[in-house]
Amino acid sequence: MNLSPHKRRISILGSTGSVGTQALQVIDLHPDQFQVEVLTAAKNASQLIQQAIQYQPRAVAICDEAQYPQVRAALSEYPIKVLSGPDCLEEAAAWEGTDLLLAAIVGVAGLKPVLAAIRKGIPIALANKECLVVAGDLVMEAARASNVAIIPVDSEHSAIFQCLAGEQFNRIEKIILTASGGPFLGKKPNFLINVKKAHALQHPNWNMGEKITIDSATLMNKGLEMIEAKWLFDLAPEQIEVVIHPQSVIHSMVQFEDGSIKAQMGLPDMRFPIQYALSYPRRLVNNFPRFRFKNYPAFNFEQPDTKTFRNLAIATETLLRGGNAPCVMNAANEEVVQAFLKNRIGFLDMTEIIEKTLVKIPFISKPNLQEYQDTDWASRELALSMIRVFS
Ligand code: NDP
Repeated sequence: MNLSPHKRRISILGSTGSVGTQALQVIDLHPDQFQVEVLTAAKNASQLIQQAIQYQPRAVAICDEAQYPQVRAALSEYPIKVLSGPDCLEEAAAWEGTDLLLAAIVGVAGLKPVLAAIRKGIPIALANKECLVVAGDLVMEAARASNVAIIPVDSEHSAIFQCLAGEQFNRIEKIILTASGGPFLGKKPNFLINVKKAHALQHPNWNMGEKITIDSATLMNKGLEMIEAKWLFDLAPEQIEVVIHPQSVIHSMVQFEDGSIKAQMGLPDMRFPIQYALSYPRRLVNNFPRFRFKNYPAFNFEQPDTKTFRNLAIATETLLRGGNAPCVMNAANEEVVQAFLKNRIGFLDMTEIIEKTLVKIPFISKPNLQEYQDTDWASRELALSMIRVFS
C-alpha cells in the first residue's frame, strides 16, 4: 500500500555514511514508495557522484569546496543541481519539495541544517543525535513552533518511540536504554590504558561510522543518548535509566506508571529503525534477516560500570546540569575522538580532557543559538590545546 498519493521524497544529509548508505538500501527495496530528492557528503566526491547517477536526485551538496569542480563536471549532463560552500547543507536541508529529511551527518555540524529544515516545515528522521545533545531545547522548540515531527532513527530511541505508539494517554514512569557495553565490556582501566584505535573500532554487534563506534567503546554514546532521549520524549533526568544488555536484541524499554514494561526487539541491524523512520507511521515489508530465539539462548543484563567508563557518569552530570554543559561535553568529545582516531591521545585521555574542559568553560543556564555556537568553539579550542599537550 502506498504511504501517500505520491512517492515520499527523501533527502539525506550524509548519504555517503553508514546510516546514509543503509537508508539508500531501504529506498532500493521500496522504489514504489520513496524517491531521492537531495543527497549530501562532506568530502567523498566519488561516492556522492555514483549515488547521484544512480538515484537522480534534484540536487547534491558537497561540503568540501575543493571537490566541487569534480562533482559539477561529473554531473554536468544530468539535471542535478550541485551545491557547495559554507551554507550548502542548510540549502540542501530546506530543499523545496522534500517530504522527509534524514539527518545522518556526524556531530554538531548537523544543527543549523536541521533547524533550517524545521523552519521550512520539513519533518526530520533524526540519526544525528549531537544536534539534540547540544541544543535540544532550541530544536524541540522550533519543531513545536513549526508543528514538525522529529522521528528518531537511533535504534534505542526508535524502540522507545515504537513502545509509545498508542500510549498517548499514559504517563511514562521511566525509560530503560539498553547498551551493548561495547568491545571493552568488563575491562578495567589497567587494560583500557593500552587500547588502540583498531581494537576500539571492533564493535561486537553494530557496524557503524568511526565516531559513534568509538563513542560506544567509551560509553559516551549512551550518555549522548540519555540527553537525546530527554529532549525527544520530554523526560526528567531521573526517568532515564541505562542497563547493559550485551546481545543488543532488546533495543530499549518503556516502563509505564502501572509498572508494566514494553520492550522493542529485533536483530541489531540499523535498516530496521531507518526503514521505520522513513515509512512512519506505516510498516513496510522487507527481506532483512529475522531474529530467531534458537540463536539467542539467553539475554543478559547488568549495571554499567561508571567508575571505569566515566564518560557515562560525566554525561549524566551534564544531563542534570543542563544549559550549555552538554554542548561543552559534546564539543570536547568530538575533538578527543578525532584525536584518538589519529593516534594522538590514548583511550583514557579522552575522558580526562572532556572532564577538564567541562570544569573550565563558563556555565550558561539558558543559552541562545549564538551562545551555543560560541560555547562549541571555545570548548573545542580548549580541548585541542590539551590534546596538543597530551600528544
Ligand atoms: P559516518 O561517519 O558513517 O557518516 C557520516 C556522513 O556525514 C558521511 O556522509 C559524511 O560525509 C557526512 N559528514 C560527516 N561530517 C560532516 C560535516 N562536518 N559536514 C557535512 N557532512 C558531514 O556516520 P554514521 O552514519 O555512523 O553516523 C551518522 C549519525 O548517525 C551520527 O550522529 C551517529 O551518532 C548517528 N547514528 C549512527 C548509527 C550507525 O549505525 N551508524 C546508529 C545510530 C545513530 P563523507 O563520507 O564525505 O565524510
